[in-house]
Amino acid sequence: MSFFSKLKDKFIKKEDEKVELEEKESLQVYDKGLTKSRNTFSSRLLDLTKRYNKVNEEYFEELEEILIMADIGVNTVMNFMDRLRKRVKEDKITDPTLLKEVIVDELFIIYVSGEVLSTNLERAEKKPTVYLFVGVNGVGKTTTIAKLAQKEKEANRKVLLIAGDTFRAGATSQLKEWSERLEVNFYGKKEGVDPASVIYEGLEYALNNDIDTVLIDTAGRLQNKTNLMKELEKINKVISKLIENAPHETLLVIDATTGQNGISQAKSFKEITNLTGIILTKLDGTAKGGIVLAIKEEVNLPVKFIGLGETARDLQEFDIEKYIYSLFKDFMEV
Ligand code: GDP
Ligand code: MG
Repeated sequence: MSFFSKLKDKFIKKEDEKVELEEKESLQVYDKGLTKSRNTFSSRLLDLTKRYNKVNEEYFEELEEILIMADIGVNTVMNFMDRLRKRVKEDKITDPTLLKEVIVDELFIIYVSGEVLSTNLERAEKKPTVYLFVGVNGVGKTTTIAKLAQKEKEANRKVLLIAGDTFRAGATSQLKEWSERLEVNFYGKKEGVDPASVIYEGLEYALNNDIDTVLIDTAGRLQNKTNLMKELEKINKVISKLIENAPHETLLVIDATTGQNGISQAKSFKEITNLTGIILTKLDGTAKGGIVLAIKEEVNLPVKFIGLGETARDLQEFDIEKYIYSLFKDFMEV
């Protein structure tokens, strides 16, 4: 049984039978958020399959181009094409229609091969759990923090937001507004103060107020790598001094609509600080949803959450099965 057939069984059943509402809703969010990608990517693949009645060299070349256009990443695509050609030869496949399941299978195999990357967020044994958010301006750090804060609150945890982006005008007040809207705790100072000192005081507040989860916003000025590295070192020192084993996660936020640029940011941040995962935002805003696969290959960090829209519900834990199913279902003509 192919991988996609298994997914089909799993998810189609879900649409019919009484399954957990949460799971069903989550699949709907994936479905909706990946519409742009699916429309472009799946329709191109479907069109390719229909135009060829035989798998030949031109077919392979067109397929390769479609995958590269979807931001899957050149190395991943090359690796994939090698495996696909081999399977076509071994299994003597000539009909493009019969290749559909194999294509989805092989993409999945590439993603899950090698090191298994856990998507769960680490939690502290002794509270508070501290998550540090890094990433360049505009990628969606602050709104992602707000979305996660809402989820943490719904899980009955006491949340604190710390405004460690003291650089950008309005960043502190933006986070403060979110804290008021969500009715969670907030700690911030005025613009221009040393972020490490704000974070230090914020963590003291967390320790004194029985906070479960601390979410720390930062400014990511990647244009000055040395300064940013020093700043993040200082921040990490302050955090680990007050709270053992913290930060429990350092999450890099990248914007899916920036494609290869986002991948470059991930590589740079990985060089200067100890990242534990990626949050990929704005997948709903791109037709190139294949970027998730490129991150695995090129950055080798787990994508822990994906942003599929503007609301808290649209921030979803990354699930490779829901992702592949939603991305390919039109191609597979479900
Ligand atoms: P920051 O500079 O990294 O803190 O970025 P912000 O959190 O201020 O977000 C910049 C813009 O991106 C805001 O308008 C957000 O609403 C938007 N945004 C963030 N995540 C998503 C997402 O997953 N989907 C969409 N469509 N917009 C998003
Ligand atoms: Mg911000």
